[in-house]
Amino acid sequence: MDHFLYRDGALYAEDVPVAEIAAAVGSPCYIYSTATLLRHFRLFDEALEGTEHLVCYAMKAASNQAILKTLAQAGAGMDVVSQGEYLRAKAAGVPGDKIVFSGVGKTAEEIRTALTGGIRQFNVESEPEMVVISRVAQELGKTAPITIRVNPDVDAKTHAKIATGKSENKFGIPISRAKEVYALAASLPGLEVVGIDCHIGSQLTELEPFKLAYEKVAELTEALRAEGHNIRRLDLGGGLGIPYARSNEAPPLPVEYGQLIKDTLGHLGCEIEIEPGRLIAGNAGIMLSKVIYVKSGEDRDFLIVDSAMNDLIRPAMYEAHHDIVAVKEPAPGVEQRPYDIVGPVCETGDTFAKARNMPPLEAGDLIAFRSAGAYGAVMASEYNSRPLIPEVLVNGNQFAVIRPRPSFDEMINRDTMPEWL
Ligand SMILES: *Cc1c(COP(=O)(O)O)cnc(C)c1O
Repeated sequence: MDHFLYRDGALYAEDVPVAEIAAAVGSPCYIYSTATLLRHFRLFDEALEGTEHLVCYAMKAASNQAILKTLAQAGAGMDVVSQGEYLRAKAAGVPGDKIVFSGVGKTAEEIRTALTGGIRQFNVESEPEMVVISRVAQELGKTAPITIRVNPDVDAKTHAKIATGKSENKFGIPISRAKEVYALAASLPGLEVVGIDCHIGSQLTELEPFKLAYEKVAELTEALRAEGHNIRRLDLGGGLGIPYARSNEAPPLPVEYGQLIKDTLGHLGCEIEIEPGRLIAGNAGIMLSKVIYVKSGEDRDFLIVDSAMNDLIRPAMYEAHHDIVAVKEPAPGVEQRPYDIVGPVCETGDTFAKARNMPPLEAGDLIAFRSAGAYGAVMASEYNSRPLIPEVLVNGNQFAVIRPRPSFDEMINRDTMPEWL
């Protein structure tokens, strides 16, 4: 459920007509709903009620300061994967002891920044990385809390580019080698082993892969405890999918996911961490666009819109589906026609949808790409010298620009000229 609904024949973001935002901010833009962000965070928080837990929002999904602050004020921790994300989380007011540092290639500088500013734990992904964390911690006279990310060799049954839990993926250490890597961790100075980490992929639409992975984590917890490791925290990653096509998808609900966690791991008495990104931000954002031209081709018609693959790359990169709706609500029973919906960028990959049924639309009409809140704005680029599109946050009947559209001069003047030119 989200808060982008038709009311009186027009699409609203909470209590604000999105056409009003387009008039004030211009098109295209991203629009996020505070109520939806908070609702999704709370669904996870409530799903783990009765268990000591922390929901660490995977901020790579959408990392605007205003989004982070909204979630942080509701009690969310953050899962970060770079120094930039760490600093963003701190700037939004998240205390270090609620920040988890994930990612396969943390540099010594990133580790130093996090240890200096405070960190809940590093999720370690390899032995060489563990050695560097140990060294940096010693240099700083600190102890680094760590978990080790284990790769349970489970098929997440999701898109190949976002599956992370198979043995061929670059993430974590094979669960079969966990005992020796934990032994290494125990032997290195400056480290404190606090638990186990596991994240098997993104946009999972079934619980079964989570169940297989968490059963392996439960077994490993007991095996490691038997070897004397103080396993008291389990970080279970993110990955729960969202319904991108509302008509025919119904991924598991957070409450069902929470129950699975309790069933598979509850007996261990560990503190539980989860790192959802997509499910918190995905349906909390839309990308608003405008039709520039309706073009009739030889065997199909095109809607050429003012947003493009540089603004929302998921269709080009993951063959992702986004529901696309007219901002003006189509009259009931109006005849729909198939269009290829494309952006202006000079790539055939700049196609948002093929043969998508849409109500009658004309140049100047607004459309909205639903479920664009996660991995949308954060993956945008200025390809074709198209300035990054603005982000807007709605809260009830108010809205605010949370990242302005840069001017063309600002974009161009970021380049610097060598003196020989
Ligand atoms: C990407 C990622 C997440 C978030 O995944 P979602 O599918 O957006 O929930 C969580 N943890 C780690 C380590 C990740 O890489």
